[in-house]
Amino acid sequence: MVLDKLGQSLNNALKKLARASTVDEALVRDVVRDIQRALITSDVNVRLVLDLTKKIEKRALEEKPPAGVSKKEHIVKIVYEELTNFLGKEAKPVEIKAKPTVLLTVGIQGSGKTTSVAKLSRYFQKHGYKVGVVCSDTWRPGAYQQLKQLIEPYGIEVFGNPEEKNAIKLAKEGVEYFKKKGVDVIIVDSAGRHKEEKGLIEEMRQISNTINPHEVILIIDGTIGQQAYNQALAFKEATPIGSIIVTKLDGSAKGGGALSAVVATGAPIKFIGVGEKIDDLEPFDPKRFVSRLLGLGDIQGLLEKFEELSKEVEFKEEDMEKFLKGKFNLKDMYAQLEAMKKMGPLQQILKMIPGMGYSLPDEMVRMSEVRLKKFKVIMDSMTEEELENPEIINYSRIKRIARGSGTTTKDVKELINQYNQMKKFFRSMDKRKLAKMAKRFNM
Ligand code: GDP
Repeated sequence: MVLDKLGQSLNNALKKLARASTVDEALVRDVVRDIQRALITSDVNVRLVLDLTKKIEKRALEEKPPAGVSKKEHIVKIVYEELTNFLGKEAKPVEIKAKPTVLLTVGIQGSGKTTSVAKLSRYFQKHGYKVGVVCSDTWRPGAYQQLKQLIEPYGIEVFGNPEEKNAIKLAKEGVEYFKKKGVDVIIVDSAGRHKEEKGLIEEMRQISNTINPHEVILIIDGTIGQQAYNQALAFKEATPIGSIIVTKLDGSAKGGGALSAVVATGAPIKFIGVGEKIDDLEPFDPKRFVSRLLGLGDIQGLLEKFEELSKEVEFKEEDMEKFLKGKFNLKDMYAQLEAMKKMGPLQQILKMIPGMGYSLPDEMVRMSEVRLKKFKVIMDSMTEEELENPEIINYSRIKRIARGSGTTTKDVKELINQYNQMKKFFRSMDKRKLAKMAKRFNM
């Protein structure tokens, strides 16, 4: 797994949250401190860590979870969101628009550049593109052979000439060669002889001026941790079309530092290297990365819950008012039953009032899918007037509705009973407590 240790310590922090019986300020601070420690151990810049954890703490203490969401779930979501923002928020894939799209790779010796070029070519091949690789590394004679060995078994051609000493000429010839061949993506591997940024950037400029790549990709070794900042910054300033691959994130203790340092420069990370094999390259997507890092198998489920909440079961104040005043109709009831089936906001709201102790009759809360569907079918056969004013539904109407909806009069009566029960329930509520509750909802 990528960044095993960091993931584990972040996960432990969240477990502490999950296990706690009450979520109070002390617990939030404790969990935030654990997150801080985890990130700093992973070589993330201390200033960045403090900024990040301050945001998490502030939100966790100040924001109120929406109805239907527990405080714990809400905090997990905040941690997830802030970590995702911290790592760049959105995925920024390499775009293959032009034909051919020319990519130039640069990187310091030993960064994993040759391996990454092989991985990249395979990645695009797997995505249906015809790829050609140009080896313009005239410095290391073995580079050409290494590339051929890695990718020729996959039927990806490598252009190179170990005899040629002029890297720029080689790069130009290679691009021409693959253009004639009509490939979709040309990846040009430059020499990685440089020990530092300066020489690297100079060579990138020279080759760039000749072959005009659509994107220049810098390969950064993830094991260097926050030192990646200077490399990425120098690179970003040198080219507006630069993106980054951070390698060796498998098993490296400093990977978190490298990733966050690169993000802090504003240079986009497009891929990460997660192993020595050719398929060990992943498009970098902060959301996916953080979900996996936190080890929350169900974070997806949690996020979906929030999404559902935001679009479907928003418990509006006017709805609440209708119920509290007993002025709801069949349509309102249906909406609430459906919402309750999802997460029980009404129930939740009742529970939120301390000392209230109200709970809805069990059968209302545990409305089965089948029963709810049947209600829907029945309601579809009612007139607008009946839906809004269920009191007018007499026996002859019941018979008509049953016939129209293909149900029985017993089914229709059951729906009306349900409605009457709910009404009764709200009427039975203590008016003083009701007033207290209404006040809480600013009614
Ligand atoms: P170059 O000098 O920059 O071209 O580096 P190479 O591509 O030859 O890679 C240097 C070493 O790093 C090799 O042993 C690679 O197998 C290894 N390497 C490259 N990328 C990764 C990675 O993502 N994970 C791991 N574990 N090793 C990698």
